[in-house]
Amino acid sequence: MIRFYNTMTRKKEEFKPIKEGLVGLYTCGPTVYDLAHIGNFRAYVFEDLLHRYLEYAGYKVLRVMNITDVDDKTIAGAHKEGISLKEYTDRYTEIFLEDMETLRMKKPDYLPRATEHIQEMVALVKRLMEKGYAYEKEGAIYYSIAKFPSYGKLSGIDLSNIKPGARVEVDEYAKEDVRDFALWKEEKEEDVSWDTELGRGRPGWHIECSAMSMKYLGESFDIHTGGVDNIFPHHENEIAQSEAATGKKFVNYWMHCAHLLVNNEKMSKSKGNFYTLRDIIKKGYNPVAVRYLLLSTHYRDPLNFTEKALVQAENTVKHYNAFYQSLDFCTGADSNKTIKEEIQKARDTFTQGLADDLNISSALAGIFGLMKVVNIALSQGTLMQEDAREVKNFLDETDSILSILEKEEIKLSEEEQKLLKEREQARKDKNFKISDEIRKRLNSAGIILEDTPYGTRWKKVKSKEG
Ligand code: AMP
Ligand code: ZN
Repeated sequence: MIRFYNTMTRKKEEFKPIKEGLVGLYTCGPTVYDLAHIGNFRAYVFEDLLHRYLEYAGYKVLRVMNITDVDDKTIAGAHKEGISLKEYTDRYTEIFLEDMETLRMKKPDYLPRATEHIQEMVALVKRLMEKGYAYEKEGAIYYSIAKFPSYGKLSGIDLSNIKPGARVEVDEYAKEDVRDFALWKEEKEEDVSWDTELGRGRPGWHIECSAMSMKYLGESFDIHTGGVDNIFPHHENEIAQSEAATGKKFVNYWMHCAHLLVNNEKMSKSKGNFYTLRDIIKKGYNPVAVRYLLLSTHYRDPLNFTEKALVQAENTVKHYNAFYQSLDFCTGADSNKTIKEEIQKARDTFTQGLADDLNISSALAGIFGLMKVVNIALSQGTLMQEDAREVKNFLDETDSILSILEKEEIKLSEEEQKLLKEREQARKDKNFKISDEIRKRLNSAGIILEDTPYGTRWKKVKSKEG
């Protein structure tokens, strides 16, 4: 049984999708006005973990991540550089997608851009107006939160703060400030506005996600994710817009990740305490270590970012990969029953951990426990080729979720394999002169041999470090 913590009910619940075997998953994506920082990537890596885990658990996942390419910040950025909004946001969208790939994230099935869904947003705003949830004021259209009695159900916001008729004009507003928010803003400038049935203007930020999620996933869908800062007002507003328009429950499971912190403060652009992925790579760190660092703390626990933690993550990733490669060294035939049992034990711990609200620490403990046992067997020479293959299969399987293995297939050429066989025969024949000659030849090709009582292991030393 899979259980996820649902922000809406504030407890762990059994996960059951609307359609058997299929999960509709919506992720609030980036506002493409600048490079994303690794705080943002904590949210996206958590969502990648969720996506991959659901697939591992046998579900087909239909995932949507929006690209906010029109809002106050993108417009201000384009103005500042004197270029079109499209030119400006295309640049940051491309960088974002590259960074996602560098962090080995799965690409969502749909990456809808807000500017390509204006009609859907207009239609939704019209529905809200027809039902009396929205009103016009000086050219703009606002959502009247007083009309939606369950406003606040996701965030538990204190509604005694509600200010009927008080409006907020900007896309982002202060926490605890419960005001009517803009669904549609009057805007005359050509490049950033559209001629629509609502007049010339542009959408507010919140309506983008309601319109795009429902377009691709239907009026009710399974999981909606984001960082905890999205709960209020963004997700609260999405619920108000969608449920008022459709009369249906919008989302069944709301999942939010805790923040990435720096000195116990949220990493954020406005505080200036942020690192981009590119900053970190420039410093010489392996992006896979960043992925591991962001992944290896439970998504609902705050994670304090330090360079020391990054160095540790890098070491773990390095050792993990070295371990994976060391499994190629076994040549002894036969298999070892204990190892089979240990693999099963590790697999159970791994899957049970993730099924419990993505408990990654427990899942990883399964893998590291197995590594310990296998390392002992390796050093004692009791790990057989068959066992090694099964351990590798298990690590390949778990890597469909973790994605931290650096698999550059290291293979021997046919000629090298032939030499290795000849040398094995020479050793059997106790012809040590020939066996030594072959060792030297392989050595000069960067292949290091280790003779063990169970056969010869080989290792290819690559020219580049690692
Ligand atoms: P924004 O560009 O501010 O809308 O953020 C994009 C995504 O990153 C949202 O899902 C936020 O919740 C998330 N996010 C922003 N800062 C952090 C942080 N320091 N830690 C974790 N997630 C964050
Ligand atoms: Zn959103």
